[in-house]
Amino acid sequence: MAAVHSVRHPRLAVRLALGHKYNAWYLIFAQPYRTADCREISRLDSPGPAIAWSPRPRFWFNQKAASGWERGGESLLDLLLSLDFRDPPLFAVVDHDSGANKVEVLLPENKLAHYCEGCGQWEVAGNNAVRWFMVRAHTLPGYLCPPCHAKDWIGARAIRYLKRIRYRLWGDR
Ligand SMILES: [Zn+2]
Repeated sequence: MAAVHSVRHPRLAVRLALGHKYNAWYLIFAQPYRTADCREISRLDSPGPAIAWSPRPRFWFNQKAASGWERGGESLLDLLLSLDFRDPPLFAVVDHDSGANKVEVLLPENKLAHYCEGCGQWEVAGNNAVRWFMVRAHTLPGYLCPPCHAKDWIGARAIRYLKRIRYRLWGDR
């Protein structure tokens, strides 16, 4: 089975991965690091003009998204587009609109880090890491980790459904 793809920036000691939580895009640490209490580094998407369906997911890259590793004048998108040359690119910029960049995600769905809609944990990169179960096939599918999948009875499904609606309306609040 494919593993979550992780990338390394030449200036950074940590590895990074890309994933979506419902329909929101996140840059995350590829693994849990003891120095970071949260895997999520930055939410990458921002609201913008509607995007037509395309075979690969597209979103408006949030110009204010930041990791703290950018150098003067550099944006997070610049940083992510200047990864180690051995890594395949994460995004292609497909459109500009008054300074905003529409990006297309180049990694296939099975190489993205998946978010567990039950407990909120993200998959870990690495060839031996456990992958989550897909529970909703969609353009951006939904997933559950094995323990949450094992107890995904009807009540848990209803809670999951409500969480998804709440997230789409209000985000992480
Ligand atoms: Zn879980």
